Amino acid sequence: MDYNNIRNFVIIAHVDHGKSTLADRFLEITGTIELRQMRSQYLDQLESERERGITIKMAPVRMSYILNAKSYILNLIDTPGHQDFSYEVSRALAAVEGAILLVDITQGIQAQTLAKFYAAKKMGLKIIGAINKVDLMNDEEELSKRIKELADLIGCQPKEIHKVSGKTGEGAQQLLAAIISQVPPPKDSVSDFRRALIFDSFYDDHKGVVASVRIFDGEFNIGDEILLAAVDEKIKIKELGYFLPKIKAAEKLSVGEIGYIATGIKEPEKIKIGDTIINLKFKISNLKSFVLPGYDEPKPVVFVSFYPEANDNYQELKIAFGKLKLNDSALNIESDFNEVLGRGFKVGFLGKLHFEITTERLEKEFGVKTINTFPSVAYKLKTDKNYIIVKNPADMPDYCEEVLEPMINIEIISPTKYLGNVLQLKEQFRMENLETKNLGERIMLTAKMPLSEMIADFDDRLKSVSEGFASFSYELADYKKADLRKMEILVAGKMIVGLTRMIHETKLEKEARKSVEKLKNILPRQQFSQAIQAMAGGRIIARETAPAMKKDVTGHLYGGDRTRKMKLWKKQKKGKKKLLSRADVSISAEVFKEMVK
Ligand code: GDP
Ligand code: MG
Repeated sequence: MDYNNIRNFVIIAHVDHGKSTLADRFLEITGTIELRQMRSQYLDQLESERERGITIKMAPVRMSYILNAKSYILNLIDTPGHQDFSYEVSRALAAVEGAILLVDITQGIQAQTLAKFYAAKKMGLKIIGAINKVDLMNDEEELSKRIKELADLIGCQPKEIHKVSGKTGEGAQQLLAAIISQVPPPKDSVSDFRRALIFDSFYDDHKGVVASVRIFDGEFNIGDEILLAAVDEKIKIKELGYFLPKIKAAEKLSVGEIGYIATGIKEPEKIKIGDTIINLKFKISNLKSFVLPGYDEPKPVVFVSFYPEANDNYQELKIAFGKLKLNDSALNIESDFNEVLGRGFKVGFLGKLHFEITTERLEKEFGVKTINTFPSVAYKLKTDKNYIIVKNPADMPDYCEEVLEPMINIEIISPTKYLGNVLQLKEQFRMENLETKNLGERIMLTAKMPLSEMIADFDDRLKSVSEGFASFSYELADYKKADLRKMEILVAGKMIVGLTRMIHETKLEKEARKSVEKLKNILPRQQFSQAIQAMAGGRIIARETAPAMKKDVTGHLYGGDRTRKMKLWKKQKKGKKKLLSRADVSISAEVFKEMVK
């Protein structure tokens, strides 16, 4: 295929504005997926994606399309809309020339609409605007307003904005035609180089590490010797091909194409996302100058330590993390050790949803159950000489002279009528430097707030006070001194390491009460009653008692054989003691998950 007939594009939008559904229509129109095999949000293949109804991974697919008697290859990459997965989006943007920016007509422009638009613009992509879900709105006036807003954002004429419905398919064909006429084809190779960018990867039991690539120069064939530049690894290509969206082997991959290269490598750490694959068929000197820009390292904001549920599963967990990291390069993984929980991993995430999804993927895709600590941000702690970073509150001293916490710059977009409600969140989430800016029917509110407050439950609260209409995006700002206290949770006198948290002084008592009450309700009943305590600064600040499980061991004995009954009661008492003395108070993964919600 001549590279002039290739179009590479992404669909970007705020969560739920209909990206994956529109992609379904493209798959149908181009005949990529047969109708009888079609299912909603076809490109959402992960179990977690299907269960939650959200896209987590970018998903590339190659479609063939004939327009005006000319054949085209359309490489589409569907992307996630949630801020926690924006690293996926940024990597997809680097592999394409164009973007469809989708806006749900019932929602209008939301925070991630802006974030994604600016990201695509920065990459120099051709951006085509489309108002989606037009089947839901008959109001012409409303429609023109939405169109004008989007045209103003992109800087185009209102007539250039498409009106589509991913549900009915209305306008989808015209949108594909616009992609062909407006998105530039990939550029030709500059000279004899043969280079590809690794924008994603995954592990296959037979093929080893498989790299998702965009070819930027030249051609790649089976058997070619290639160099993975960053890791300095030379290998022969075992197999290559396209995403249809399932992988399908092909003869070669040429300039401008998107596809995969199977490396046969079994060690996940030997491949790096953002790395350049150089085809060694052409002898070139000064290899380093051929390396593509690659990607900025993602900045993790939430840290959680993971330990295998069963101690001897450490190796399994290690392998699972290695393979998962291939498919989720935003994960930041370090080894970790805890006296109670043993060997594990300290993992950095791009947000709380990213953390939750990862726990789920470990279990569903790799069958590994884990115990994890409470999600924490990275604090700065003043020591004698300098500041140290502490990512696990359990590593904090009981009394600390000075603690600094990470702050974020947050941008909230809300319909004007909810402004009052949104402003009510100010105290609870310790927001400062509030400023508002009018955007027509919407308000943009900017503020500074502690990252820890954002990961608490800001998302849910904002949604509920605005009936789902307000949205936000944020970026890390600086560190700021704060009155934080370390709070530990004890069950039956034993500290539950993973539940230690740093809490702002003003919220300490309330949080302590909440924690012990919640734990009392979700802790599975033991055969003995257990004290649940919250401790801060060496003092118990809240306490509950989880009652013992009621079990009538004599129930099955009818009649009045008192001595037998006594015997049984005695036995039960002894049993209880035994249990208490080696009180197994490690908390299951389920209880932890419930506690961190
Ligand atoms: P994404 O998060 O942007 O990928 O959004 P999805 O494609 O997963 O769609 C989010 C929700 O909107 C789903 O419940 C879809 O069924 C629904 N949806 C998507 N497109 C349309 C549309 O054009 N019309 C209507 N009525 N619903 C739509
Ligand atoms: Mg989606």
